[in-house]
Amino acid sequence: MTEQAELVGELRWKKFPVLDDGFVCLVDVMGEDQSVVQAARVSYGKGTRRVSDDRGLIRYLMRHRHSTPFEMAELKFLVRVPMDCWRQWIRHRTANVNEYSTRYSEAIDSAQTTPPDQWRTQAATNRQGSGDLLPTEVGETLSKREAELQALTRETYAERLTHGVAREQARKDLPLATYTEAYWKIDLHNLLHFLALRMDAHAQWEIRQYATTLGEQIVQPLFPLVWEAFVDYRLQAMAISRLDQEVIARLMARLASEGRGRATEEDFLAAQDPAWTELTRCRERDECRDKLVRLGLLQ
Ligand SMILES: Cc1cc2nc3c(=O)[nH]c(=O)nc-3n(C[C@H](O)[C@H](O)[C@H](O)COP(=O)(O)OP(=O)(O)OC[C@H]3O[C@@H](n4cnc5c(N)ncnc54)[C@H](O)[C@@H]3O)c2cc1C
Repeated sequence: MTEQAELVGELRWKKFPVLDDGFVCLVDVMGEDQSVVQAARVSYGKGTRRVSDDRGLIRYLMRHRHSTPFEMAELKFLVRVPMDCWRQWIRHRTANVNEYSTRYSEAIDSAQTTPPDQWRTQAATNRQGSGDLLPTEVGETLSKREAELQALTRETYAERLTHGVAREQARKDLPLATYTEAYWKIDLHNLLHFLALRMDAHAQWEIRQYATTLGEQIVQPLFPLVWEAFVDYRLQAMAISRLDQEVIARLMARLASEGRGRATEEDFLAAQDPAWTELTRCRERDECRDKLVRLGLLQ
């Protein structure tokens, strides 16, 4: 048995827990790092082998977004996810999906619950995001109310079934926190696209837990070279736009002319793109500032 086959054997059907009652598990995988390399060599010819090793080739493909070789590998998962999270997940149209049917079977008797110390405030700046954690005393009340609500909706659902209501109608008041299960099959290229979007800090915390588990527990060991390139060129990379480049050039010129090393907020505002100057709030300027801080150019 090859090392890869052994690894696949260890990973298949292993349930990696996510949230309080969710999981992801690998059902099947077709391919490995070598499948990406093999497909790329058909395109580039045998001559490539002399100038680049497999790692170099995979990194080149990832850097230049030559995506089709990554489509040669496929992964199938079984996932258990709360329905609100699943609603975001299912927006990724490039997967094949079979979901548990609550018309055919009784809804899964489990809903995601929030511990008292895990309730988040609305983010002050990002309308789609969360801010800090709420005080635990407040969380205790919220978790208690959550438990009461979930118990009531479950009781109501069971009562409807007892009266002979059709499952497809009885389910309508179940909370979005109710867990669902699905088989989810996707090629490696589209899986990485999903992971890039859903492991990102802008994604909701809950789906980030799923994406991070899929990525780090399953994709990383199965495709170590692809994963390394993905982290370097997608996950931890940053895009420097034309506007950003011009800001950096103006900033460096200003610092050089004054013989200073590191820029201040005042320098940044002086060097910002002219189109941003009049705006009180400007997301593009904020993102540019963040990039300069990450690059160590701005205090
Ligand atoms: C942080 C975040 C916030 C979001 N907020 C919202 C929101 O407020 N409202 C909302 O409705 N959605 C929202 N979304 C969902 C988002 O707009 C996408 O629908 C979702 O991320 C799926 O991305 P995708 O289409 O690239 O992926 P996939 O569906 O997997 O597609 C992958 C790629 O295939 C190509 N493709 C697939 N299908 C087609 C097609 N029919 N035509 C052309 N090209 C196609 C595209 O290049 C696409 O990028 C949000 C997503 C994120 C990550």
